[in-house]
Amino acid sequence: MVQLSGVRKDNITHLPILEDFQKHFFITAGRLRYPVVVGINIKNFKYFNQTCGFENGNLLLERMADHFCFTNPDCRLASRIYGDHMIVLAEAYTPDEIVIQEEFLIMCRDFSKIMNREFPQIHIYMNCGACFISKQDRQIDRIIDRVRYAQKENKDDYKSNVTFYTKELEQKILCESRIIPMFEQALEDNRILLYLQPKFSIDEQKLAGAEALARIRDTDGDILTPGYFVPLLEKSGMIMELDRRIIHLLADTMKEWMAQGIELFAVSVNLSRLDFTKEGFLDEVIAYIDRAGVPRRFIEFELTETVFCENLDVIIRQIERLRTLGFRISMDDFGSGYNSLDVIGMVPADVIKFDRSFVLHSLKSKTGQEVMRSLMEMFQRIDFEVLCEGIETKDEEELVYACGCNQIQGYLHDKPMDAPAFTEKYLRSAQ
Ligand code: C2E
Ligand code: MG
Ligand code: MG
Repeated sequence: MVQLSGVRKDNITHLPILEDFQKHFFITAGRLRYPVVVGINIKNFKYFNQTCGFENGNLLLERMADHFCFTNPDCRLASRIYGDHMIVLAEAYTPDEIVIQEEFLIMCRDFSKIMNREFPQIHIYMNCGACFISKQDRQIDRIIDRVRYAQKENKDDYKSNVTFYTKELEQKILCESRIIPMFEQALEDNRILLYLQPKFSIDEQKLAGAEALARIRDTDGDILTPGYFVPLLEKSGMIMELDRRIIHLLADTMKEWMAQGIELFAVSVNLSRLDFTKEGFLDEVIAYIDRAGVPRRFIEFELTETVFCENLDVIIRQIERLRTLGFRISMDDFGSGYNSLDVIGMVPADVIKFDRSFVLHSLKSKTGQEVMRSLMEMFQRIDFEVLCEGIETKDEEELVYACGCNQIQGYLHDKPMDAPAFTEKYLRSAQ
């Protein structure tokens, strides 16, 4: 590391404080052929502190500064931003991101190994984000932001990761920043669309229900699917606006069906965790459904496991209330994550929806099929209905039927379609 006179040092790591790092940054970077900035932090630092104590936490930070800065021959300047977040300006000998990424990963793994010898009770993992500096770069904050964005891409898995801030990542961030305003405009312009996907009874080979799914019609006419906007709406808290609109559209559609003399059947709609935490949300949508005159037993609320990750007692009480009020409840995406049986046992639901990934996996082997058959038998014994999602082929249909499942939803029968198309295809012919 470049020795600078007169810089103020951080007490724990003995690295220059951030202000002095910033002061010397561009002069130092200007002398390097391929200047690269790497942000580093420890994934499980909080847990380390809890397990090994703060004194050892400080020792770990000191060791981290030694390993990544003082004894790293490529490091030219470094600082601790806060907590366990450090930033390193290093000289790369190639502009190849993959090579640098690999080298840093080795450095991280070496550090984990060394620390593991000293603290065998906990294995630490590093989270690194990196970016090259160009001659056009003038603002240190922007560079730190890029590094942080790259770090955010790293998963919470049990391994060290190094991610570069690439043009593709920049594109993705730009795209994300456009989604919220695009969604707000779509709400205002009534471009949020209600799509319906039929559910089928296998032995009767006829319609058994439907699921309401959201789509957005973009200004250029493109139809956007939930994978594009739901995760961001969840992150930003705007998901309630989407759920509210879809429930309103569904109630309006069912009211229209009733007016046309169409016999109703249960239609499910997805709820999110935030719908349960926002005071008054559920009462408002219930009032809307009641005003439309749709009997509550024809509305089914689908819940995924993310609904249950916090405040389980409060959420369960609200689900009980929905059920007492006459709505149906289904557990969505069973088997897709860590959806555990103890949660299922606590939730007063009517239907368990087996996720496509679980179905596919189970059907691959005889043991898998046996597990699925036993699970279905058990659920049915305790009065749950079971449904398999994502059935694409006749073979899959036959196999899940053999496991005891009679209800399916999937491309084999139909893809989701807009409400008018659904009405035309499935309901007019039945009249
Ligand atoms: P989900 O609730 O599990 O919905 C089923 C998804 O599986 C739908 O994706 C559907 O199009 C897809 N699918 C159905 N059959 C097949 C098949 O045979 N093969 C495959 N590969 N996929 C199939 P979609 O419409 O893209 O929705 C994705 C997810 O977005 C939904 O998963 C749901 O979690 C969420 N979502 C959709 N609409 C809403 C909404 O209004 N509010 C909330 N909170 N989430 C929504
Ligand atoms: Mg669903
Ligand atoms: Mg599902």
